[in-house]
Amino acid sequence: MNRLILVKDAPEIGLKGKNRNRFRQRLIQNLLRAAELPPDRARDEPGRVYLHVSAEEMDGVLDALGRVFGAHSFAPAYRTEPNLDAAGEACLRIAESTRLENASFGVRVKRADRSFPVSSNEAERRLGALLLNRFPSWRVDLTAPDLWAHVEFRHGSAYAYSSLDERAGPGGMPVGASGKALALLSGGIDSPAAAWMAMRRGLSVDAVHFHSFPFTGEKAKEKCLNLARVLSRWKTLPVNAYVLPFAETQTAVAQKVDQSLWTLVFRRMMDRAALRLMKARRYRALVTGDNLGQVASQTVENLAAMDAAVDMLRLRPLIAYDKVDTIALARRIGTYEISILPYEDCCTAFAPKQPKTKATARALEQAEAALPVEALTDACVNGAQLYRVRPDSVEEADAPDLKNA
Ligand code: ATP
Ligand code: MG
Repeated sequence: MNRLILVKDAPEIGLKGKNRNRFRQRLIQNLLRAAELPPDRARDEPGRVYLHVSAEEMDGVLDALGRVFGAHSFAPAYRTEPNLDAAGEACLRIAESTRLENASFGVRVKRADRSFPVSSNEAERRLGALLLNRFPSWRVDLTAPDLWAHVEFRHGSAYAYSSLDERAGPGGMPVGASGKALALLSGGIDSPAAAWMAMRRGLSVDAVHFHSFPFTGEKAKEKCLNLARVLSRWKTLPVNAYVLPFAETQTAVAQKVDQSLWTLVFRRMMDRAALRLMKARRYRALVTGDNLGQVASQTVENLAAMDAAVDMLRLRPLIAYDKVDTIALARRIGTYEISILPYEDCCTAFAPKQPKTKATARALEQAEAALPVEALTDACVNGAQLYRVRPDSVEEADAPDLKNA
């Protein structure tokens, strides 16, 4: 009998038909990377991944698996010979480890190996009887017991685990299975949460931040890189964070454009620079933290007017979220405490007193006619800094070559 971790795939992965294998290979890779285990520690069966870990590795790996998208749930488990005696032994160990008195319990048997000679019902009865015999104060409850002992009979092995040890994974799709996207990352609460949601749908997300130095300080940039650090824990890969200088653009806009349109023109300028990065680095979509109606720039009219500047796929995962939902999500993923730090971001420094709530694309184009749009975009992109962001380190990397972008 040995210990391992049983991981259940998100049920959606099972529906992928011919692509299922590609999704599963990605999931296994990501599980191993998050757990920092070599490839020979994973074993793959339909709907299940088994990770072999030592007792010392167990807690660290369980913690890391909670951040791997595509994992529906996972639990430390016993692997035994595929017979009732061995599985019964594992059930007894599980029961003992609960240290419960007068507990209610049930046994649930799954027979993935149809040639297993005992029916699931019969196996449940026999294993249940074994437990009752050892723990006379316990009783069977098949609706809502304190403990489910789960046993799965598969070809060559049986696996047993306790409902009390099973943890929920984050679900979704394995990062990378849906391709690459770029997230507009401000220092706010919304954009990191939006980036996280895009990752949960299998996008490998990198970040771009527009930095308004000297109107905003180094702290604003650091804050954003710290948010990227948290995101990299979920990505299971480093996040490439591009920091683009935005002060020149903002100054020009502030001089030439009516104040009520500033925010919208800033965003269109961000989109233009982001599009260059996307083309150069093959990102398929731009992820933003926009939310319908939350701030003046986010009316349907304004979203449409902003989007008209650049033709690209925009993803707005939070579009229908209430702020309370976004805050709850940000807390759960670990970005909230960073987001609420006070350092100003570029748009707060240039916030219009009376922003227009129903702009048109035409009005924005007319306002932008007074701006050297291409030259400003060039300056933004040519000043890009690239940071390779991991959970516990931020390294500046060589600036990307965006000349042909
Ligand atoms: P957030 O909490 O994400 O800042 P918000 O509700 O404050 O969002 P805005 O500040 O208007 O709304 O920003 C809307 C979106 O524009 C952000 O979610 C983000 O995706 C993008 N954005 C805003 N400022 C920046 C910036 N300095 N760098 C990169 N992206 C930005
Ligand atoms: Mg903001």
